[in-house]
Amino acid sequence: MSAEIEASCLHDRPGDPQRRGLLIIISSPSGAGKSTLARRLMAWDPTIRFSVSVTTRPPRPGERHGVDYHFIDRPTFARMAAGGELLEHAEVFGNHYGTPRAQVLEAIEEGRDILFDIDWQGGQQIRNSDLADDVVSIFILPPSIAALEERLRGRGQDPEEVIARRMAKARDEISHWAEYDYVFVNDDVDCTAERLRAIVTAERWRRSRRPGLVAHVRGLMEEFESGYQQG
Ligand code: ADP
Ligand code: 5GP
Repeated sequence: MSAEIEASCLHDRPGDPQRRGLLIIISSPSGAGKSTLARRLMAWDPTIRFSVSVTTRPPRPGERHGVDYHFIDRPTFARMAAGGELLEHAEVFGNHYGTPRAQVLEAIEEGRDILFDIDWQGGQQIRNSDLADDVVSIFILPPSIAALEERLRGRGQDPEEVIARRMAKARDEISHWAEYDYVFVNDDVDCTAERLRAIVTAERWRRSRRPGLVAHVRGLMEEFESGYQQG
């Protein structure tokens, strides 16, 4: 089978039974590679939408408002949280982060997958919400703590004290690994990306996520009932 045909069969095709969108949650200690893997997954299937969080953290160089995050001030964040506008929210490294509820509901209803780069606290809150059945959660582990530190430094984004804070939080984040459906040790990034694609492909085909199957099977039964004659 050619790569093109194989690729097209792994994505939804016209005529496939209609399905609900997936909530793909990826968590990891900072530096293990979740943003890299998220980007790879969305490049493979551009219909997957990234859940753009709100945060009170200031933008880093190169980050764009509305693309990487919605950068908001603390009073606005507090108002959104109090008004129930956030599906989940948490404090990470002294800043507040949250997922706007509206964009998630809209995506699921349209049958679109939405990808979350959120910490274990957010993962837990979404798994305990009424959207739990739509979730597939993935935890990314580094091959070693030394590799984690090397990746944080290699990324060249953070001053020394921020790297130290991220390393200190890593232990806490890693301790939640067993709450996730799938756990990958991100050694070779190409392999991890391929495994992630396999998970997303399989999860899309769960019977419970294909409400369109009911209509299809009803159609098959109607063919029998209308006196289908064997050829
Ligand atoms: P996170 O989003 O989890 O904080 P990033 O995706 O930003 O992590 O990755 C941190 C750094 O490690 C980046 O420079 C990235 O290119 C690199 N990286 C990611 N995965 C791997 C891997 N499997 N092997 C080596 N380096 C990696
Ligand atoms: P960063 O500041 O490096 O972008 O993100 C710091 C941490 O906050 C990461 O672990 C990231 O996954 C997490 N995070 C980002 N957005 C959200 C969110 O909306 N909710 C929660 N709970 N965590 C988030």
